[in-house]
Amino acid sequence: MIKDPQVILDKAKEIGLEAYLLDVSEINVENRAQLKCAFGCRGYGKRLSCPPHIISINSFREILKEYSQAILLIEEHETSAEKDILKAWSGLRKGSFHKMLELEHMAFRKGFIFAQLIRPGACNECETCGEQCNKPEMRRFPPEAVGINLSSLMEKQGLEIRYCNFARIKCVGILLLD
Ligand code: SF4
Repeated sequence: MIKDPQVILDKAKEIGLEAYLLDVSEINVENRAQLKCAFGCRGYGKRLSCPPHIISINSFREILKEYSQAILLIEEHETSAEKDILKAWSGLRKGSFHKMLELEHMAFRKGFIFAQLIRPGACNECETCGEQCNKPEMRRFPPEAVGINLSSLMEKQGLEIRYCNFARIKCVGILLLD
């Protein structure tokens, strides 16, 4: 089967996502991201989509070598009128994740059998996580959780991510393709 990422890029645009085809060598994986998760994140350990419950940064680095291309996915939301930005972020990232997951499923059907989505933000499909994941088919991890430096990746595309711009929030995911 001929695998053409263009159909995924077209579908992404159709459902309201910005999409940029990447060479996987552009994705920097950095050990220092571990510091930001383990020391300072209020959600550390609470979600099964995040450290310490997921694969290590080193494992992810090795896995990434087996991929050749990826699609950077972005959905930007206007949030200047939001009173409770954390509550808004929860709903927005869930909606963006569902769109991105639809693309992962589509990529699989189109022959990218190792298509794997790295989702925007921590998984919040359930109110809380238990000992075991309630919906393992939905469980994906965010880029930062495996050491991906999103800022540098976005800069390479001529884009920018401003973590403290609460008036416009970007939900960012990466779809690994192969
Ligand atoms: S699907 Fe539910 S239980 Fe599983 S990681 Fe996501 S929020 Fe947690």
